[in-house]
Amino acid sequence: MVVAAALVDGDGRVLVQRRPAGKPMAGLWEFPGGKVEAGELPEFALARELEEELGISLDPGLVKPCAFASETLGTKHLLLLLYTLRNWSGTPAARHADALQWVYPGELHALEMPPADVPLIAALEKL
Ligand code: C5P
Repeated sequence: MVVAAALVDGDGRVLVQRRPAGKPMAGLWEFPGGKVEAGELPEFALARELEEELGISLDPGLVKPCAFASETLGTKHLLLLLYTLRNWSGTPAARHADALQWVYPGELHALEMPPADVPLIAALEKL
């Protein structure tokens, strides 16, 4: 299971990061997040991943479930849970990604995203 976050700023824009060269799906824009470890609650996994990837800290109790997507990529099955996050500490920095950008949800359609992330856009457009 993979968790990801839509950080939402005061203007309603969300943060996406670009997967760097050398990683699977390099160059695609994704919602930051990653794999839930064994025995880990999803919201805590999300806080850990966002600290690692963006250098921000957050209260796992303040993330809100938003949507999920289930994808089969070859022999791999991926369940992706998306949360929204409006309050965090620190300024997001690209620690794993090679770029970050803030975009309005309607602009996400123009970006190339991993297959599991694409169906989540509709939920963000309704925020
Ligand atoms: O980032 P990481 O490689 O740990 O992500 C684990 C898996 O979840 C990868 O297969 C990645 O492609 C997928 N993923 C995704 N969408 C995201 C975050 C991760 O499809 N927003």
